[in-house]
Amino acid sequence: MITATAVSAPQQVLIRNLIDVFLSDDGDLRFDAEVSVENIAGDERPLVRSRDSAGSTKTISCEFVAGCDGDRGVSRAAIPSESLTRYSHEYGYAWLTILAEVPANHQSMMALHPRGFAGQFARGPHASRFYLQCPLDSSTAQWTDERIWDELETRFGEPMAAKGPIASTQLVPLRSVVYSPRSYGRLYLLGDAAHIVPPMSAKGMNLALHDAEVLANAVVHYQTNDHDFSLLDGYSSTCLRHVWNYQAFATWWTELVHNAGDASHQGEFRHQIARADLARLFESGSANRLLSEFIAGLN
Ligand SMILES: Cc1cc2nc3c(=O)[nH]c(=O)nc-3n(C[C@H](O)[C@H](O)[C@H](O)COP(=O)(O)OP(=O)(O)OC[C@H]3O[C@@H](n4cnc5c(N)ncnc54)[C@H](O)[C@@H]3O)c2cc1C
Repeated sequence: MITATAVSAPQQVLIRNLIDVFLSDDGDLRFDAEVSVENIAGDERPLVRSRDSAGSTKTISCEFVAGCDGDRGVSRAAIPSESLTRYSHEYGYAWLTILAEVPANHQSMMALHPRGFAGQFARGPHASRFYLQCPLDSSTAQWTDERIWDELETRFGEPMAAKGPIASTQLVPLRSVVYSPRSYGRLYLLGDAAHIVPPMSAKGMNLALHDAEVLANAVVHYQTNDHDFSLLDGYSSTCLRHVWNYQAFATWWTELVHNAGDASHQGEFRHQIARADLARLFESGSANRLLSEFIAGLN
């Protein structure tokens, strides 16, 4: 039995708090808006145009654009493809992510089972988030509620305390992606717009917050030091160093956890290597530190 202590904030709570602060400072926040980004590379000031669902339009003329609109946003797409390199690694399996309207058996629990990884994390007193490793060609339609509960009980090796309505399921192929460089003209990419880490590492939101802090410091430095671009010029290399370091951890941890459970994916040799790696972690006491860091990253 391993115990680890950490303070964690569910992502939706963090976002709600950030929105509250933004609005109390008179921030202008619009949902369901169509956004476009222009003039990021020329001598003119960049423009960000938006049209909200009610048809109201707004154009912001600015000095810099922070492209933090996720993996499918418009900001990275505004960079010419020849100016951006995509490095990626596909892990070869997916997670079925499940949101259930039942309390969790435990605050957090993970299982490595020959049928694959399973995870459970409380989402407040009345809801839980579950993860099940599954093949890439699975479809959510194949996962009936009954099959999900059976599979969770099999992998966790204990009955689920409560089985209730499943609010949503989604398939997430596990992959690592890094885009380089992280800036183009006056546009700076942050968070999932600039990289994807597999969810097993629990670092995506943490990396996004790190990028925001580096960029904010660079902009403040520019404003308070007579338009000195040095930190903005270093933004890309600072964040790339950081993200490659986390990709190294994420790749190792993701492969370890998934290979140690499911030998059918990469074969018995990798299975035994992963088990040996895990045993070494537990024997050296490193597992506690690792799990503390992992749980601290969970949202
Ligand atoms: C299953 C799963 C579990 C995870 N667990 C963890 C975890 O435990 N810990 C952790 O740190 N990370 C975790 N992550 C990763 C984390 O959720 C992301 O890395 C994080 O949300 C990235 O933040 P972001 O702001 O860069 O992008 P996003 O959260 O994707 O936000 C981008 C925003 O931009 C908006 N947007 C997109 N396109 C447009 C457009 N055209 N116009 C206007 N707005 C637009 C979107 O609506 C969205 O609000 C997990 C991810 C998954 C899939």
